[in-house]
Amino acid sequence: MLAKKTPLLQSFRSLVFRHASHLSRQQYDVIVVGGGHAGTEAAAAAARVGAETLLVTQKKNTIGALSCNPSLGGIGKGQLVKEVDALDGLCGRAGDWAGIHFSILNRSKGPAVWGPRAQLDRQRYREFIQSELLSTPRLTVLEGSVEELLVTEPNPEEPGQHRVKGICLANGNHPISASSVVLTTGTFLSGSLFVGQTTSPGGRIGDAPSSPGLSQTLRERLGLRTGRLRTGTPPRIVKDSVDLSEAQLHPPDSHPTPFSFLNTHTHCKPEEQLPCYLTFTTPGVERVVRESLHLNCHIQQDAKGPRYCPSIESRVLRFPGRRHQVWLEPEGMASDLLYPQGLSMTMPPDVQLRLIREIPAMHRAEIHTPGYGVQYDFVCPTQLSPALQVKSTQGLFLAGQINGTTGYEEAAAQGLWAGVNAARWALSMPLVALSRTESYIGVLIDDLVSRGITEPYRMFTSRAEYRTSLRPDNADLRLTLKGFEEVGCVSSLRYQKAVRVRDKLQEALAALEAIALSSAKWRKKLPGIHMSENKNKILTGMELLEYNDASFEMLASVFPDCLSPYIEFAQRLNIEAVYKSHCDLQKKEIERVQKEENMCLSPDLDYFSLPISLSEEVREILDRVRPSTLGAASRLQGITPAAVINLLHYVKYTG
Ligand code: FAD
Repeated sequence: MLAKKTPLLQSFRSLVFRHASHLSRQQYDVIVVGGGHAGTEAAAAAARVGAETLLVTQKKNTIGALSCNPSLGGIGKGQLVKEVDALDGLCGRAGDWAGIHFSILNRSKGPAVWGPRAQLDRQRYREFIQSELLSTPRLTVLEGSVEELLVTEPNPEEPGQHRVKGICLANGNHPISASSVVLTTGTFLSGSLFVGQTTSPGGRIGDAPSSPGLSQTLRERLGLRTGRLRTGTPPRIVKDSVDLSEAQLHPPDSHPTPFSFLNTHTHCKPEEQLPCYLTFTTPGVERVVRESLHLNCHIQQDAKGPRYCPSIESRVLRFPGRRHQVWLEPEGMASDLLYPQGLSMTMPPDVQLRLIREIPAMHRAEIHTPGYGVQYDFVCPTQLSPALQVKSTQGLFLAGQINGTTGYEEAAAQGLWAGVNAARWALSMPLVALSRTESYIGVLIDDLVSRGITEPYRMFTSRAEYRTSLRPDNADLRLTLKGFEEVGCVSSLRYQKAVRVRDKLQEALAALEAIALSSAKWRKKLPGIHMSENKNKILTGMELLEYNDASFEMLASVFPDCLSPYIEFAQRLNIEAVYKSHCDLQKKEIERVQKEENMCLSPDLDYFSLPISLSEEVREILDRVRPSTLGAASRLQGITPAAVINLLHYVKYTG
């Protein structure tokens, strides 16, 4: 099944976006500024929670635009997409609709760290997002540029606390009021574009930057600390001009895995999906980079760029003499262009052409659009609460690249959570937070608000201490139920589906636990499984599934009456079995920490020399704050659950 799609193309062609003077109201519960990945999720989530919501964005036809790479998901990022989907967000379903090459990255590792990923058709992705927004009740979309944020002066009873009142549009300073505003200005806040030695104001090629008034209000009126970051994008290459026989073909997975829990298959059939190609840089590429450094003003700037998505200039300068991967990725089903991932660059266009022609597959390649760089302001995210509300300004929420992150998935995840909380604030409901133990979204937000950033932040599985529990396969069980019962952002249709899945999985696990045989008997029934247990040891079906060569399908063939009703969940049960004992242990550890809340921490502890695994950052926080109990330590911003467990073990058994 592919989730019900609104009559997409028809509605896209007859988009009804409002003009400011035609708005049905001048007062909204929530205003979202920006129609990128954070803004679209924020607006849809706020409306789902029940708020009258206005999305204001510079250009209607760039709503949902993929500014850089035509892909979604990947290692760590795929988990975020699954979680956004589990909370009824848009990007997972949009990915299933627009994907033209699906693959699971990291397959050689355990399923907890698999990275669902898809190449996207840019146009289809945008169309899906636009059509979803237009069919979302309580959501109005307005084309316009927000010039100014309206805020009250601090209340004498709450010094330092401003309150948001609304926004003013450019062109006539049209004020619109709201109880909450979510800013998701992406790379546009005081944005400048760079190609070669040319610099011009802009948020993205073809788009003006956000008005300086907005940056000024954040800095001067609200006193927020801001910084400057940079990123860049590769030139787009004319597909017909590339000799793909010189590159390695990488087909998609033969059985594409959808992102969304609502979908059983992807829109693009496996046989229609397009391949990617892998090629490599040559010494000639390095030579061109070095020869043109003096013509490249973007890389001479101080602003920090994305370490994990570096430009070709940074790659060759940091790792001289190495060859670097270049992936040639399709930009769309009918697109004539290729996206050369790994070749983000900002030298002058003629030098860009010389550079790409140093790669054998691109000896005669033509550039359609040159690569360029962008620099923009971000707001230091430690000034936000875990609800993504600015601590000093009630009703003001920030999400996406403005918080110093990079990537569509990181933006979408924050957008959804900021939208939820903006709506709850406007509707006088308590704000909500997600913890590191229940989601990657919780890890992302906790990292941002408690540690801040020094370079563009992207998600990795290694950032999540509880990654064996926070798997892509179980995001629905972790978040959909909570999203409906406690948060209010999940539809009852999705909730019913997740409840059915939860109940069926529980029944299946009980059925597996109820099957208990000696290992001798198991060997007889399933001779293909290599068991090390002694022959009298009793093993349940669940314990047997922990063996690498056992599968639920095998067990169901031996016990069809009790297990075949659950065959549709075979993969989930296989994964559950692999991690069950580890996750049970982790859960017990979390419960132990909760039980030992009142355990005293000596005021003399020398945190810097404790012989346990604690990051320097954690040691510094503990040393500075000197919490009196374990519970107090666990609530400090920046202290991870893993650090608390290590501390507990140390104090209990050694301290
Ligand atoms: P955006 O997608 O930037 O959306 C911001 C939206 O806000 C836009 O629709 C804009 O029109 C609107 N807006 C801004 N100001 C106003 C205003 N005052 N009034 C109304 N509307 C406004 N990501 C990576 O992960 N790796 C990369 O290598 C990478 N390279 C990039 C290179 C370039 C040149 C660019 C432009 C982006 C790159 N990105 C990269 C970043 C990626 O595009 C972002 O991470 C992602 O789009 C962030 O989503 P967002 O919603 O925060 O902002």
